Amino acid sequence: MSEQFDCIVVGVGGFGSGALDSVASRGLNVLGLERFGIAHDRGSSHGHTRVTRQAYFEHPDYVPLLIESYRLWDELAEDFGQPLLDRCGLLLAGHPDGPAVSGTRFAAAEHGLTLEDVSRKRLEDDFPGFAIPEEFEAVWEAAGGFLFVEDAVTAHIRRAVDRGAVLKTDETVISWTADNGAVEVTTDRGRYQAGALILAPGAWAPDLIPGLPIHWDIVRKPLFWFPATNDHYDRANGSGVFFLETPGGDFYGFPSLDGQTVKLAEHSAGLSIEDPLAVDRDVVDADLPPLVEYLETYMPSLSTTPDRHAVCFYTRTPDRHFVVDRHPEHSHVAIAAGFSGHGFKFTPAIGATLADLALDGVTDRRIEFLSATRPGLAPQD
Ligand SMILES: Cc1cc2nc3c(=O)[nH]c(=O)nc-3n(C[C@H](O)[C@H](O)[C@H](O)COP(=O)(O)OP(=O)(O)OC[C@H]3O[C@@H](n4cnc5c(N)ncnc54)[C@H](O)[C@@H]3O)c2cc1C
Repeated sequence: MSEQFDCIVVGVGGFGSGALDSVASRGLNVLGLERFGIAHDRGSSHGHTRVTRQAYFEHPDYVPLLIESYRLWDELAEDFGQPLLDRCGLLLAGHPDGPAVSGTRFAAAEHGLTLEDVSRKRLEDDFPGFAIPEEFEAVWEAAGGFLFVEDAVTAHIRRAVDRGAVLKTDETVISWTADNGAVEVTTDRGRYQAGALILAPGAWAPDLIPGLPIHWDIVRKPLFWFPATNDHYDRANGSGVFFLETPGGDFYGFPSLDGQTVKLAEHSAGLSIEDPLAVDRDVVDADLPPLVEYLETYMPSLSTTPDRHAVCFYTRTPDRHFVVDRHPEHSHVAIAAGFSGHGFKFTPAIGATLADLALDGVTDRRIEFLSATRPGLAPQD
């Protein structure tokens, strides 16, 4: 006999945890199915911290979702009883005509967000750890900061379970069907039925959201902790997160929380992989050279020999925008994937959006730009 629920959430990582919590907040009977454990390190939501910001250069339509997410992060932290979002500020630099600086200024102007230009003198006085070239310009967004990623996933799950959600971990979904509002999910342990389904499978989108003309590019992304040789990057001294758009790629990082290491990663490149379960979690030859070159040029007071690393996945779409929509063929199925390495900061607002889409069929939020049927998502010939 299969168990019956109002809604099933498949994949309880970043977005699944947000969706589980949002469905549970409606007082509905919701099941979350997760192949690994809570806040595990096999998917895309681990490695201690994630950057967040509001003046979003990628597309100004993300901004309302971010403003809502900030509010929801604060509420979640209050319920969780410990901080989730540190508003330490963001230094963003690059060529003024590049997408990062120009797009950030555009999004800030469009939505009336506070954004400060950082003068040469201020760069020298306040950001001595950075060697920003003359041809770059820099901006400071005080609302930028970082999230504690594993704590954030745990907080959503804990509140969802407190609200009555059923969570089954170490259980792998094998397949699902949807027919006239009746959903059935088959796992390696059983079968479950529901009226609605939310699919948030991260790097396993090709397996669990098959058959759509969307190219999901699964990319192996390492991140590194580099030893600091001075206190130029310390959170305790007022340092914030940073994002530099350089000719060698986009790099971002976090203030030092322990006074000893700075976490840093490259954003734009990466190796495409076939099977996330078989990924190489050691450092490979291609990982470090771009970071070493970046450090030597832009952050010379960090050691170029990392003392630890983690490996994670981006699920990229061709246009690097998310896919958050009803399934084009199944009205009670919502899909969330393709977060292209910049999704975590949105998980509470998009979690609520997924609940709307799966249960009500519509949402008030402006998410047309994240449609599963927009042009340009198909594999390139
Ligand atoms: C190195 C790195 C740095 C990043 N930095 C930032 C940043 O600074 N700011 C930011 O906003 N975003 C950032 N991101 C992106 C962000 O972390 C991701 O967009 C987000 O975490 C993705 O969440 P998700 O729910 O899609 O995937 P996940 O959190 O991986 O969740 C998917 C879940 O589905 C489960 N699952 C899959 N298949 C099955 C199955 N068959 N049965 C049961 N369960 C299944 C998986 O086990 C997993 O738990 C970064 C990502 C990486 C990798």
